Amino acid sequence: MSIIKTELPKVLGNLSKKYGHGIKKNFPENSLSTKWTVAPNSYGYIVESVKFLHEKLGMKYLNFNRVMEQNVIDTPEQLWELIQQFQKLFRYMIEKNTELYISPFDYSIISSVISRQTLLETEPTWSRCGFGKMPALSLDGNIYPCFRLIPGHNHMKKTISQGTVFTSLDENLTDLILLNENAQVNKLKVDEKCKSCSIFSSCPHCAADCVNNDLTLSKTTSVCNFHRVSIYFARLYWKNIKKLYPAKYCNIQIKWTEDDDNNLLTLILKEIMI
Ligand code: SF4
Repeated sequence: MSIIKTELPKVLGNLSKKYGHGIKKNFPENSLSTKWTVAPNSYGYIVESVKFLHEKLGMKYLNFNRVMEQNVIDTPEQLWELIQQFQKLFRYMIEKNTELYISPFDYSIISSVISRQTLLETEPTWSRCGFGKMPALSLDGNIYPCFRLIPGHNHMKKTISQGTVFTSLDENLTDLILLNENAQVNKLKVDEKCKSCSIFSSCPHCAADCVNNDLTLSKTTSVCNFHRVSIYFARLYWKNIKKLYPAKYCNIQIKWTEDDDNNLLTLILKEIMI
């Protein structure tokens, strides 16, 4: 692959440090991990999957999130199922203490949540998305700024390839730069409900179905319920863990209030009542 003579490496960042060490052949038992994605029709299997991966396969680092596609919507029944699964997951995680990690309960997603309004005032160029940081290679040899931009992963008509492995990478990075700019909070198009959302900064806005044909981005909202439920139970988890092990977790700061929790729960339940 001829990447060297292009500007792309500067935009992509130093990937080799993160990904350049190849695949480890023997994982020590305590570093086994996996990542998967759930859709509304698989909410009912979350707890069973976590238990299987942890108890039968010995995995301790489990990362999962919800599909980002905008047309994959939760029905009220699926949302109720999700709440029940997270309730069970919360109990299981308390039992396991620090023996098991799951990404929806990661402390970082609840420790520094910032509303959109605050971001606009303090950090208007803030963005969660970094087109180009995870370049993807398609089967036909084309290189894309993200696997979500490989044709077939979204509904975009425009193709944003950065070149091919057979020729060279595209020197013209205009589209990539524009995408990164449009992912910033001051340019991102958002729904009315996201404008006043208190957990905006931790909510994903992935390129899947977010990129419009004019290369503007619209914030995904299909992840809304999953994200709210995850934040609600992650907060509950850390509150309990801190209470159970005060000395061990003395550095954990509970920054949210009971009102914050109640407001979030009200929003979640409203979606079921619709
Ligand atoms: S999708 Fe929902 S949780 Fe995410 S920012 Fe918008 S309102 Fe908040």
